[in-house]
Amino acid sequence: MTRLAIMAAMPEELDAFLAAMPDEAPQMVGERQFWCGHLMGHDVVAVLSGIGKVAASITATTLITRFDVDRLIFTGVAGGLGDGVHVGDVVVATELLQHDLDASPLFPRFEIPGRGISRITTDTTLSHVLSQAAHDCLKDAARVHQGLIVSGDRFVSSLAEVRALRQALPDALAVEMEGAAIAQVCQAFDIPFGVVRSISDRADDDAHLDFQRFVREVASPHALAIVQATLARL
Ligand code: SAH
Repeated sequence: MTRLAIMAAMPEELDAFLAAMPDEAPQMVGERQFWCGHLMGHDVVAVLSGIGKVAASITATTLITRFDVDRLIFTGVAGGLGDGVHVGDVVVATELLQHDLDASPLFPRFEIPGRGISRITTDTTLSHVLSQAAHDCLKDAARVHQGLIVSGDRFVSSLAEVRALRQALPDALAVEMEGAAIAQVCQAFDIPFGVVRSISDRADDDAHLDFQRFVREVASPHALAIVQATLARL
């Protein structure tokens, strides 16, 4: 029997998952509430990730070590960085990097100290299925992109920061605050994982506008539909 973890970045998204789970029961570990139950007949644990790399790492580690999940999906929103990545589009990560990790000159910028790498690859099968599911859910209403997502402990909301990120990491499609941390945790425990993000903003000077409304009305229904369509294929 396999057990899938669903990590949601926002309470609105978690609520959408809980509403679709017929039998969820909460279990507290530390200050976090983990919801164990079923979704589309699959054994799942749904939980709020918490915002930022540390919160997300605590949540992912607990899911793996205390709840014995053997696959993990993260859903959330992100700022669009790449050309042609628009609000409402979906980005499925193929690799993730911490854009605020810099131990230079001891290690090259972005490199995870002691690991010799800066990018962590997502599970190919899971990411492929997530993309297919996103295509099916969005139809022609928006685009689905696959590629590099970068994470850092900063809500990016200025053109200057966007320019700097694009210059340093030209292939980055989106920026958020958790994905690369989860990637490092999952890699450490050898757990296959995937990250799917709805683009809520362009990380520019308007990035804070209508954020909550987008999460409630667009991102949460999309996250649920994409995960359900993914589960139907697993
Ligand atoms: N207004 C929200 C702020 C959430 S922080 C609140 O009060 O709760 C932003 C969340 O969305 C994080 O989980 C992050 O992963 C993602 N995100 C969306 N746009 C982002 C951006 N431009 N920069 C960084 N993270 C972003």
